[in-house]
Amino acid sequence: MEKKTDIVMSGIRPTGFLHLGNYFGAVRNYVRMQDAYTCYFMVADLHALTTLNETRELRTHVRRVMAENIACGLDPDKVAFYCQSHVPETAELYLFFNMIAYKGELEKTPTFKDKVRLQPNNVNMGLLTYPVLQAADILLHRATLVPVGKDQEQHLEIARDYAQRFNQRYGRDVFPEPYAFNFGEALAKVPSLDGAGKMSKSENQMATLYLADSDDAIRKKISKAKTDSGGEPGAPMPDSVANLFQLLRLVAPEDMIAKFAADYEAGTIRYGDMKKELAEGMVRFIAPIRERATDIQNDDVYLRRVMEQGAAKARASAKVTIELAKDAIGLNYI
Ligand code: ADP
Repeated sequence: MEKKTDIVMSGIRPTGFLHLGNYFGAVRNYVRMQDAYTCYFMVADLHALTTLNETRELRTHVRRVMAENIACGLDPDKVAFYCQSHVPETAELYLFFNMIAYKGELEKTPTFKDKVRLQPNNVNMGLLTYPVLQAADILLHRATLVPVGKDQEQHLEIARDYAQRFNQRYGRDVFPEPYAFNFGEALAKVPSLDGAGKMSKSENQMATLYLADSDDAIRKKISKAKTDSGGEPGAPMPDSVANLFQLLRLVAPEDMIAKFAADYEAGTIRYGDMKKELAEGMVRFIAPIRERATDIQNDDVYLRRVMEQGAAKARASAKVTIELAKDAIGLNYI
């Protein structure tokens, strides 16, 4: 198939097990885009260093995240699927972008403020300049489409600023502007099971459904999900219940969703039944991915080949961009 001209780029940090948020916010779109576009997908191991104190687990995390992506349908022969640290040009571009990144702006980024709250004793420069490295990841391939969840929207705005700033400062159109992409739909935000915030790799593990969860773990987590006590007909829906409906929409057929919605409206909803359907839908969805991922993770020869092949493709693209950037800056005296 003739590929479209837009370049696609995205990444996931190897900081834990992939969850439904990663799937519906990111990986599902990687798979949907891999035939039509030139794609670069990355395991963001350098980004992981901003929060991981313990790096002995990194090797396992990286292999598992790769295996889980492939188990979801990502095809390493169709895309460049690589580890960030295998492409040192990333660090070079990051350095160039640091010269046009302003400290005051970065300090105001909500994700930075969140991280300061979560790890007050480790407010490292990597945390502050996370959006700078992320801009380098994306613009290293001069990508314009970035399949990500809603939580990343603001980082994309920063990447656009750096692209514009670089072009303006050095007087050349080296970088296009990248945008978050979800096939024209709103960006995904998969809620956690306790009705507070979003599913995430490291926080709130009982309220997050992981692609590696056993069938029993899935059923147990959903059975404990928060609901209300069955309010008056027509009463406004509490967030915890709205979240359950949102999750049901991810895995259940339309008619079933409509039935539970009508029951809710009538004040006759039985949350036990709804949770059972939700749990079985999630088991049907997650179990085959989990099983495939385990097999892939155990195939070290294959994963090594994937990493090498991915790094070679990514470095070829990165080299061209770095040359363009250096030339624009004026770092070209020989
Ligand atoms: P996490 O927040 O779990 O550590 P990452 O920061 O590695 O995940 O993000 C990987 C991708 O998954 C990003 O595109 C991000 O937008 C997406 N993502 C993470 N959590 C969610 C969620 N709950 N809903 C939708 N997308 C999500």
